[in-house]
Amino acid sequence: MGMLYIVSTGPGAIEYLTPRARAALEESEYIIGNSFYLEHVRTLIDGKEIIFSSMGAEVQRAQRAAELSRDHIVSMVSGGDAGVYGMASIVLEVFENGGYDSMVEVIPGVTAATMAASRLGSPLSGDYVTLSLSDLLTPWDVIEKRLNLAFQMEIPVALYNPRSRTRPYNLKKALSILSRYRSKDTPIGIVKNASRTGEEVFVTTLAELGENDELVDMHSIVLIGGIESRVWKNGDDIRGIITPRGYHRKYVY
Ligand code: SAH
Repeated sequence: MGMLYIVSTGPGAIEYLTPRARAALEESEYIIGNSFYLEHVRTLIDGKEIIFSSMGAEVQRAQRAAELSRDHIVSMVSGGDAGVYGMASIVLEVFENGGYDSMVEVIPGVTAATMAASRLGSPLSGDYVTLSLSDLLTPWDVIEKRLNLAFQMEIPVALYNPRSRTRPYNLKKALSILSRYRSKDTPIGIVKNASRTGEEVFVTTLAELGENDELVDMHSIVLIGGIESRVWKNGDDIRGIITPRGYHRKYVY
């Protein structure tokens, strides 16, 4: 009987790949994934059977992985955490429907929200919400409803898939919903290519980003501050964003 690992490869840099993920890749005969994510683990998969799959071909990729896992050790790689807008659910659904009985292990990873948060300081401390602005699999009216509800909670919101060439207006629409509930000076952090070559970190506000959101692309994540979030400064130097957890209500420091 075969084995299927669903391997989270983390945000990019190899040092954010867990030892468990590394061991699964090493043990595997076949490695399947999107070429963008396979590139990040290239140095670990030399000499394996590598199956490159393109964006948008997720269902076929999952079926291929399930088939191969009947008799082989297979790793399906997925960027960030495989369970966060990644491949884990489609692979498990295909498994369930196809009556496969190979062993399966889902290996977690560092997701874009927490990776980006670390670059900004501590913007997500406490409760926060993640939403994806991609309407490929979720209808836009559902996304809009969730944005309205999330922003009313007044806690930080991490926006995955914020903007792409095929969806240039979704971020603008989300920011206009945000302005119904929150002030113009709401702090917003943007991290582009977190932990990858070309990483960039920006701290801005709702007013500023609403004017010009072109710096945001599909390799960026947008972290919108909650009602208690504030810019973290060192003198005049902007360092990032802090969302206090509430220690100030209990302690003097
Ligand atoms: N499973 C992935 C998310 C896939 S959805 C995870 O857990 O991180 C793809 C979106 O994730 C991108 O559009 C972007 O918003 C975000 N993302 C993934 N990796 C990123 C990185 N290194 N830097 C910034 N954003 C990233």
